[in-house]
Amino acid sequence: MAQRHLSLAPEARERIVRHAQASRSREACGVLLADARHGPEPGTELDVALRAIRVPNRAADRERSFLIHPIDLARVERVARAHDLRIIGTWHTHPHGAAEPSRADRAGAPDGWWQLVAGRSGGNIQLQAFWVEDGVWIPEALGTDPASCVALATPQRAGG
Ligand SMILES: [Zn+2]
Repeated sequence: MAQRHLSLAPEARERIVRHAQASRSREACGVLLADARHGPEPGTELDVALRAIRVPNRAADRERSFLIHPIDLARVERVARAHDLRIIGTWHTHPHGAAEPSRADRAGAPDGWWQLVAGRSGGNIQLQAFWVEDGVWIPEALGTDPASCVALATPQRAGG
């Protein structure tokens, strides 16, 4: 099976880093949205996250975990669909730790989705992407190729 890759649009990256910097005690979380008009780039298995949307963290212990409620997810999905976008995964922050999945993270992640973790390393925010398959979190280098993001964000014109 071809390896999956994730590229994050600069604006989405900035937004997640901002939330990670602001959430000093509680985890912030949200979803990653890609263009709904096509799947991964053919031959490359590249998913491009164009937007990062924040949703409320409904976990009981928000200092150490996050929970996206199905109702919140359904709401984002409706809005995303109206904008030709689809959910390809979630992101969340670790105010106290590294960008590595916790035991709760590993237990709660659905297969076939990206998981982006924003952790702290020294004073810096560090982003790490994981592709989840058969319950296994596979770390993936996070691309930030602005050209591919812009190309996908711009509607293709038919004809020529
Ligand atoms: Zn976590």
